[in-house]
Amino acid sequence: MRKCPICEKSLAKVNDIALEMEGYVLIVKGERCEACGEEFPLEAETQRAIETARKLGVWPEPLKLQRHLSKSGGGLILRIPSDIEKQLDLKEKSEITISKVGNKIVIEPQTA
Ligand SMILES: [Zn+2]
Repeated sequence: MRKCPICEKSLAKVNDIALEMEGYVLIVKGERCEACGEEFPLEAETQRAIETARKLGVWPEPLKLQRHLSKSGGGLILRIPSDIEKQLDLKEKSEITISKVGNKIVIEPQTA
């Protein structure tokens, strides 16, 4: 079994690494560190996933959704789509971190 190059703990084989590619999320096989959680997608798997998607002219279900901002109490409100809410197990009063990356807004749920 291979070791994590970061913390040198053992890597576990997984098949659910989410890889963001051109705004789409691909799920590929790879290895994940049991200690630090760092993920190492297999290069070949990644290439295969991209090529298959291109060949078929279909990408996996995009996690990109259009939403309008609304206004409330002088501030702008963003409604989180319910499928993202379920997938990330978001609850009312969930702590999130909002960061600005270039001209994008990244919303990260805090892991308890
Ligand atoms: Zn590690």
